[in-house]
Amino acid sequence: MNKHRLDPLLRPRSVAIVGASKRVDTVGSWAFINLQKGGYKGRIYPVNPRYKTLGDLPCFASLAELPEVPDLVVFAVSDARLEGVLDEAIALQVPAAVIQSTLVLDDDPEPVLRERIQQKIQNAGMLLCGGNGMGFYNVRDHVWTCGFDSADHAAPGNVTLISHSGAGMSGIIDCEERLRVNLAVSAGNELATTMDEYLDFALELPETRVVGLFVETARNPEGFAAALRKAAQRRIPVVALKVGRTAAAAKLTVSHSGAMAGDDACYEALFDRYGVQRARDQDEFTTLLIMFAELHPVGAGGLVSLHDSGGERQLLVDLAHDAGVPLTKLSGTTLEKLEDVLDPELPAVNPLDAWSRGGPDASQMMTNALTLMMQDPGAALGVVVHNRAPYGKIYASYLSYMQRARADSAKPVALVSATQGSGQDDAVVTSTHAGFPVLDGVSRFLQGVRALFAYRDFLLREPSELCKPDVAVVRHWQERLRSGETLGEHESLQMLTDFGVTATSPLAANDEESVVAAGAECGYPLVLKTARAGLVHKSDHGGVIVGIADEEQLRQMYALMRSRLGDDVLISTVADAGVEMILGVKRDPQFGPVVILGFGGVLAETIKDVQFALPPFDAAHARRCVERMKFRPLLDGTRGAPPANIDSFCRLAERFSIMVHALEEVLSEVDVNPVIVSDNDSLAVDALVVGRDRREDRGAN
Ligand code: ADP
Ligand code: MG
Repeated sequence: MNKHRLDPLLRPRSVAIVGASKRVDTVGSWAFINLQKGGYKGRIYPVNPRYKTLGDLPCFASLAELPEVPDLVVFAVSDARLEGVLDEAIALQVPAAVIQSTLVLDDDPEPVLRERIQQKIQNAGMLLCGGNGMGFYNVRDHVWTCGFDSADHAAPGNVTLISHSGAGMSGIIDCEERLRVNLAVSAGNELATTMDEYLDFALELPETRVVGLFVETARNPEGFAAALRKAAQRRIPVVALKVGRTAAAAKLTVSHSGAMAGDDACYEALFDRYGVQRARDQDEFTTLLIMFAELHPVGAGGLVSLHDSGGERQLLVDLAHDAGVPLTKLSGTTLEKLEDVLDPELPAVNPLDAWSRGGPDASQMMTNALTLMMQDPGAALGVVVHNRAPYGKIYASYLSYMQRARADSAKPVALVSATQGSGQDDAVVTSTHAGFPVLDGVSRFLQGVRALFAYRDFLLREPSELCKPDVAVVRHWQERLRSGETLGEHESLQMLTDFGVTATSPLAANDEESVVAAGAECGYPLVLKTARAGLVHKSDHGGVIVGIADEEQLRQMYALMRSRLGDDVLISTVADAGVEMILGVKRDPQFGPVVILGFGGVLAETIKDVQFALPPFDAAHARRCVERMKFRPLLDGTRGAPPANIDSFCRLAERFSIMVHALEEVLSEVDVNPVIVSDNDSLAVDALVVGRDRREDRGAN
């Protein structure tokens, strides 16, 4: 493999353990033991003035006494002593370090230890795993730096796990033998090196089949997005367990690690963009990782499942529905063949209960049935759902069904236990490692299937080439927005039009004469709106009158509106009737402007049926967002209304996202509500754009 920036940290030629110790159950002893247990092939230098030797190795009094400058220093000293030894390492120009302690001292003056260390490490350009972590295991290259008791991690693994939570790493890799890692990193609070850099490293490893990320927050959001993009380009699946989904949990991210927390919806948008599959809890996370490691890739089609119980078969139908997992509708040919092999009382249907009378042929029947189902052209993946034998044993016969079926269908297959259990059977591990994973819990498994299918579909996406906005238009609006001003409706709609986002072009007027002239130019029926500066919800104040029929009515309405809201008004044509949608932009503290798409109108804030997407995106992406909306059926036409032209909305959203991307730096907020989507087309009829003065962000003003 090629050289990587993180080599001195993750693939060092020599390692010093400062504070290496003989005292049992200390970081200094575990780090020393683990490095050797992992089979480290480089030079190991224990450093501790109290010993002459440690194990078989000479022990040094200080870093300065080592025969060479080590690539990596693992610090295993108390926080009170850490700063001093770090200074020594920096003076020697050591390129990389691992810090596992919390870096908290009592009665520490500002800037506190953690900040001081961070500053020093960053100034020195040192790579750092930690602090407040559990080191890392580069299993493939035999570098284990964890300062805690550790299971055996046999090479070769094909899963990379990168975790902000130390327990989130060790709790999986130390306890779940089905999952084998090539690299596991407890990134801690990332005082220097961040998750995206480890991810980048993992993507360069030839054996990495899937990467799991346990994410508190992306401390380098741009790098994070770039690394996910690289994973997508290399077609290496990423599974994320992102905590801080709710506002209360996000607050903990900030207080726990002092890091910024972006809106969860933005992470969703980012994950959606790069095909990252999200797990909801640690069990699901682990299951997804095992399934991607052993079952990915899957082909076209749905899931076929084999059971030995009718009730469990029904339960699977319910659970698959909840999980959004399609079950294969078997072809006529498959059904006929199935009928030939099943006991006559068993219906040939997927999911299939193929166990009726038992007897000497039962196993053969199960094997044949599974094979036939998996050979169906509509089957992507097979599963055998079973209950374990006494003491949690796996029936060897079930493993043989799977092997035959996979050999004859060339499709992946798994064995899933219907319930959890504490039973032990080595076959669970050996079969999984042989590519026939044995998993626990049907719902969790189905989440894994959903993710496998979603990732398969992600890889089939072909984003269309997006058009480039006119350079002069971009420059003009960049200048205009840079002041941080809020643009009125008239100008906001003009901006949309300039970027090819179809919008009304209202006429401005400010006295009866100009209103009447504008009415004549626009034609009737028309819409009269107040243009009073700073008025946000115009219709709440009687500031929008739709469908004015003629000049007389226009004069009357203008007089009324003027008496309440002032002279300035806009006059525009009436849009065709349709469903009111919304397009918006909000600025995320981490990811910048994010586009909001959803159901709009005056009730938009109440119904809150919106999706987030990172700009720019194509119409197909907008379409996927629309398909996820709760009120999606409204667009099919209700109560006699014709179906809305969803494609026109998606094209408009594409244009909008291109605009947002082009004006990324100077946009603070945009609200286009509504975009009226008729059976014919889509038209933005109201807009509000807020510019962004970047000096304000920096607090200079
Ligand atoms: P505000 O959001 O400030 O209250 P809008 O301009 O969005 O004002 O108008 C409120 C409502 O009036 C819209 O949700 C839409 O139903 C209707 N409306 C506004 N402009 C038009 C138009 N040009 N054609 C048809 N209906 C319109
Ligand atoms: Mg509006």
